[in-house]
Amino acid sequence: MVEKKAFQAESKRLLDLMINSIYTHKEIFLREILSNASDAVDKLCYKSLTDESVGMSRDDFLIRINRDEENRVITVTDNGIGMTREELEKNLGTIAKSGSLDFKQNLESSNLPKGEDGTAPIDIIGQFGVGFYSAFMVSDKVTVVSRAWGEDQAWKWESSGADGYTITEAQRETVGTDVIMEIKADTEDEDYSRFLREYTLAGLVKKYSDYIRYPIQMEREKHRAIEGTETEDRPAETETYYELETLNSMVPVWQRSKSEVTQEDYYAFYRDKFFDFTDPIKAIHVDAEGVVSYKALLFIPAKASYDYYTKDYKKGLQLYSSGVLIMDKCEDLIPEHFRFVRGVVDSPDLSLNISREMLQHSRQLKVIAGNIEKKIRNELLKLQKDDREHYEEFFAQFGLQLKYGVLQDFGREKDSLKDLLLFSSSAGEALTTLAEYRARMKEDQKDIYYATGETAALIEALPQAELVREKGYEILYFTHEVDEFVAQTLMEYDEKPFKSVNRDDLDLETEEEKEQLKKQEEELGDLLTFVKEAVGDSVKEVKLSHKLRSQPVCLTAGGSLSFEMEKYLNAVQPEAGAKAERILELNADHPVLAKMKELQADQPETAKRYAQILYHQAELMAGLGVENPAAYSELVFSLME
Ligand code: ADP
Repeated sequence: MVEKKAFQAESKRLLDLMINSIYTHKEIFLREILSNASDAVDKLCYKSLTDESVGMSRDDFLIRINRDEENRVITVTDNGIGMTREELEKNLGTIAKSGSLDFKQNLESSNLPKGEDGTAPIDIIGQFGVGFYSAFMVSDKVTVVSRAWGEDQAWKWESSGADGYTITEAQRETVGTDVIMEIKADTEDEDYSRFLREYTLAGLVKKYSDYIRYPIQMEREKHRAIEGTETEDRPAETETYYELETLNSMVPVWQRSKSEVTQEDYYAFYRDKFFDFTDPIKAIHVDAEGVVSYKALLFIPAKASYDYYTKDYKKGLQLYSSGVLIMDKCEDLIPEHFRFVRGVVDSPDLSLNISREMLQHSRQLKVIAGNIEKKIRNELLKLQKDDREHYEEFFAQFGLQLKYGVLQDFGREKDSLKDLLLFSSSAGEALTTLAEYRARMKEDQKDIYYATGETAALIEALPQAELVREKGYEILYFTHEVDEFVAQTLMEYDEKPFKSVNRDDLDLETEEEKEQLKKQEEELGDLLTFVKEAVGDSVKEVKLSHKLRSQPVCLTAGGSLSFEMEKYLNAVQPEAGAKAERILELNADHPVLAKMKELQADQPETAKRYAQILYHQAELMAGLGVENPAAYSELVFSLME
């Protein structure tokens, strides 16, 4: 009696989902089984390049589909790398493997409507690489007979579904795997028999697996005339015979000429290959001839994957050499700032039996990587110009990545990235590029103004933004904490420096205004010194300002550290105690100042409290919060008494 093992809990859930699937595209099971076969062949084919003992060449590798309509069995056979007993156990008994795991995580993180019992939304199965278990959507029983490369013993894995599986010894002449599927009986709703028919299978291969790079063969029914059976009034009798035929064209999408491939072909390839159910924003097909020849198919995803901004996400492109996969995620092909790009690169100029370390130093690889980077940048700029809506969608997902790209390595890439950035601004709802802002700048405008804050609405309410706006100067709204670091790294755009409206040295006053300011200072006498004494060392300076219109005070930053940067630095590294220089600016025309002047003489104690409140109000408006809310409240209450 062979011991029956239970599936690992997660696997069982997925398996149940497959078995009870009401999913209408059950046909994708064939795609999944064939793609596993192709992966297995890839592995052995790659090994054969460096290991002569494999004893096979590129042309020997193939996949076979056998159908037995009478007994309702479909078998998919490959001469790939095979599986050991342990691998059968690990790969088919548990879910800790790529495709299925992605599927599960995607389901869990997706906000698609869940089924009644809170489980997966069934209609999106098919969109993912659901893997081996999908065979159970059409089969009552699945048997896998496999012999791993380098082993003499073959093993048989059998399962009729959720109640578990067995593994026993088996015979197999050569290395490879058979997946034997016993097709379900037809039901009222589902015609499973169609999967046993020749033309259905041939059609499914064409539809989903055409680009698999090894021949997928199947015996096809043919008819021919029997010689000598024709008579004068009757045509010859025919006989049926079977002939092995290769069903797929084996030309991968990226090898086909651009004019032959439709956008839907590209997108279908993308969804299938990268397990994404959302179409990408753009497909980029490169056919380069030159110092190094290569073909590349690159995709800009429409959505950042759930793990994109975590360390779990690995960048890289699939690397092929003349159609043989040599690396699944070649990191060196894609720069950090474009790490969201997915795709494949295929070059006949790369040596096949090259180690990973050697590949890193390969001159050809560097040339390809450089070209790819330029290509992506140009395509993004083109999208920005011709299809702003999609570009904004893209930017919403990956704009942060581009900004980090500007900061990276002390701004090494800033010049190639600056034109890809978008910001919101005081010019209106639409996002703007720096070039567009630059084009709108007034003739007398010396700087590119920006203001920082959590939202555009909060920034609009900043007292110090008033004067800049009044001058008719546009202000960029920096709502993300990295924005200001980006501006500091860029320093300038087209010779115009970036300047925060929070700086105390905006220098926007006319000579006349400066003159007037001086006069007002004299009139106010020692009120400024009085306020400075009242607020103490919290501020570096108290001065009159022309920036202000409706508000009596504002706080500006004196040094190079801004308030936003102070907040950010304190969030990431509180122990460093970063503190921006505070300058308290007062509006001489505001009635509050006249009132204080009055109180200063008669009730200096009250005037002092007013000054302190003014300072705290300025802190609040700058988004800094008050350091000691209880003390501040007491201050306010003392005045109310
Ligand atoms: P995925 O292919 O996405 O990893 P699957 O559930 O389809 O997930 O397959 C699980 C694993 O089983 C594969 O990763 C592979 O290691 C192994 N496997 C499946 N089919 C074959 C095969 N025909 N030959 C060799 N290994 C296979």
